Amino acid sequence: MTTKLFYEDSYITNFTAHTWEQFTDEANRSYIVLDQTAFYPTGGGQPSDTGTLNGVQVLEVEEVDGEIRHYVAGPLPNQEYVQGQINWKRRFDHMQQHAGQHILSAAFEDQLGFSTVSFHLGQEVCTIDLDVAQLSQEDIEVAEAFANDVIQQNLPIETKWVNEEELAQYSLRKQLAVSENIRLVMIPNVDYSGCGGTHPSSTGQVRAISILKIEKQKKQTRVHFVCGKRVTNELRTKQAVVQGLTNVLSVPESKLVDAAERVLLQSKEYEKTIDELNEKLLSFEAKELLQSAELIHDQKVVQMISSQYGMKDLQKLAKIILKEEPEVVVFFVGESDQKLQIVCGRGEEIDQDMNLALKKVLPFINGKGGGKKDFAQGGGDPIRSAEEVLIELVKATFQ
Ligand SMILES: [Zn+2]
Repeated sequence: MTTKLFYEDSYITNFTAHTWEQFTDEANRSYIVLDQTAFYPTGGGQPSDTGTLNGVQVLEVEEVDGEIRHYVAGPLPNQEYVQGQINWKRRFDHMQQHAGQHILSAAFEDQLGFSTVSFHLGQEVCTIDLDVAQLSQEDIEVAEAFANDVIQQNLPIETKWVNEEELAQYSLRKQLAVSENIRLVMIPNVDYSGCGGTHPSSTGQVRAISILKIEKQKKQTRVHFVCGKRVTNELRTKQAVVQGLTNVLSVPESKLVDAAERVLLQSKEYEKTIDELNEKLLSFEAKELLQSAELIHDQKVVQMISSQYGMKDLQKLAKIILKEEPEVVVFFVGESDQKLQIVCGRGEEIDQDMNLALKKVLPFINGKGGGKKDFAQGGGDPIRSAEEVLIELVKATFQ
């Protein structure tokens, strides 16, 4: 079925189709094809319209081999006519973003000589990729000011179908890939582009353009921007964030960045101090533990069950002890976060295989881990008590 398209006139939101068929695609999604439609199918950087057909949700509209597929949430009631309705809020937002893109691209081209390579209209933010490696803050301000000026002048946005011959009269912003059935979108003296998208009838309806940020993309630059109602939404969201930060940091807006940097610096210094104190604490603890060493099978052994230390500190502690005393064996079992952690090591003067011992014990706690002959670590589930695990470690090491 060849579908007559209404999106030519962007303001048609309700329509009636007289012939319709329902299909399912390769992915088992059901879709409707109509004899005519006002739904805009995904294309040209613009997402499709949504809405309803006889009250059934239209989720997405795609053009596949010239066929306009209306993907629907369920089967259509068996009626003679199909009454279509487009989600106007979404459509108008897309019209604003799309026209805003024409204007912004024209601004970069006209004021700075940077051409637009591609356009994307996202759920929240739109982007254009410019054929330039770098943009200065001044470039951004110049283009944004020019674009908002074009909006304020409330110029007409007109569309016209032209052939190749007629096309020669216009100075197009971008070369076209097609040579027939060309739809020109014209903003007098500002922009002449071949485009199949939806646009409002005047630039004033775009309301405003705001460039949010730029992003380097190899030899191109991506410009993130919003138009229309999205500008005030964006401002409201950002204002809430700024307000929140000024409250938290107790400084006025203009000093936020300084204050945040200061807090970060301070917390790095604190971290350093904490690390140093922790090292000292571990040294003291190591000395005490060494004094509590007992003889097992004629071997000096340090054992500890701890819920205070994490894996990292247990390892540090063991290493301090082994450095201090090369003829000792260390067994630590840590209990934290619903886990059992094991650290075992021995001084360089003795030759027990700690990795082997650990591997014998790990199955008792569904554990994983490993290491070398002189030092090994692992962890598992607390299905045996820490005391039992210690006993098993001693057994595995000295038998
Ligand atoms: Zn367009």
